[in-house]
Amino acid sequence: MDTALGEDGPSRTTRTSGACGYLTINLAALERNYERLAKEVAPARAAAVVKADAYGLGASKIGATLYARGCRHFFTAQFVEAVRLRPHLDKDALIFVLNGLQPGNEPDCAREGIVPVINSLEQWQRWSTQAQTLGRRLPAVLQFDTGMSRLGLPPEERGAVAAALGMGGTVEVLFIMSHLASADDFESGQNGDQLAEMTRIAQEFAGFDICFANSGGVFLGSNYHGVLARPGIALYGGAPTAGVPNPMEQVVQLEVAIVQLRTVPAGARVGYGGTHVASVETRLATVAAGYADGLPRSLSGKGALYCDGVRLPIVGRVSMDSVTIDVTALPAGRLSLGSLVEVLGPNQTLEDIARDAGTISYEILTGLGDRYDRHYR
Ligand SMILES: *Cc1c(COP(=O)(O)O)cnc(C)c1O
Repeated sequence: MDTALGEDGPSRTTRTSGACGYLTINLAALERNYERLAKEVAPARAAAVVKADAYGLGASKIGATLYARGCRHFFTAQFVEAVRLRPHLDKDALIFVLNGLQPGNEPDCAREGIVPVINSLEQWQRWSTQAQTLGRRLPAVLQFDTGMSRLGLPPEERGAVAAALGMGGTVEVLFIMSHLASADDFESGQNGDQLAEMTRIAQEFAGFDICFANSGGVFLGSNYHGVLARPGIALYGGAPTAGVPNPMEQVVQLEVAIVQLRTVPAGARVGYGGTHVASVETRLATVAAGYADGLPRSLSGKGALYCDGVRLPIVGRVSMDSVTIDVTALPAGRLSLGSLVEVLGPNQTLEDIARDAGTISYEILTGLGDRYDRHYR
């Protein structure tokens, strides 16, 4: 467990492993977040969005854990993600591909039992043709653009799909969906606009169940819940709504090892470009995580890491594999080679680091990379 010898004995926070960073994913917290969201949307159900390897946390592990908690609907962005996830879930789990059906992908999609989200009339026609070729009905979800102009059937293609549906056909629509652009903002008028458009679409496609809310949408009220919500970030502890206390539990902790300690005199330059110049004698630590490990370069001279609750500012530029922090505020000898400092944990949330980096929690999580020693707890 603990081998590094600091000036005052072995550091409590050091672990033996070749890895320079430890990413701890608290599956119990994930489960509690799922249950919190499921309760919020009941009697509607909660799906899990597990795209981008479950926001970087490991889709197979996250998927299997949530399946065991009763989740049966899993949304990926890409077909390859869906195929990778399939063996980790039982047969009754449905896996959806949000980005839709790529031309030529139809036979594989049908064979693997993946449910495409149909985003255009062309995709609808190709999927129908595939079903006719196979001589069986194939499942699909219809996504509508309600004002984000990103994915989903545009208004002018609705009529043709509605007509095809009216004639029976070979595609079985499981539910209809749309995606909110501003759900993290309670105040945004765009939420109501999109809800009104979705309500109109639900009249055109009467009888179909609705899937609408992402994490933010879950907290916009029951009008937004339909029969199935699609939270992602909130499962992983990110704040569903900006500017209000985060109701979710932190899932990810990240500690990174110190790989060098030094004391520099006033006037010393730190890091690439010499952008930081020490104004007084300073104790510095070089920490083994950089922008290749998800500490954005925009944290240069801005963000901080923590030890014993003490804020340790990042000085100079973030490098690819390391970042340098000012540890003068800690007692001398507290840190030694291999000591761990906190990137994410009790002192720093995803939102904190995202704010300092000028980005969002999603980008921090999905950028964490694969060089950390991962523990599921
Ligand atoms: C990513 C995504 C979600 C999940 O969004 P969160 O804000 O992470 O909850 C839901 N639906 C669609 C279509 C998405 O692309």
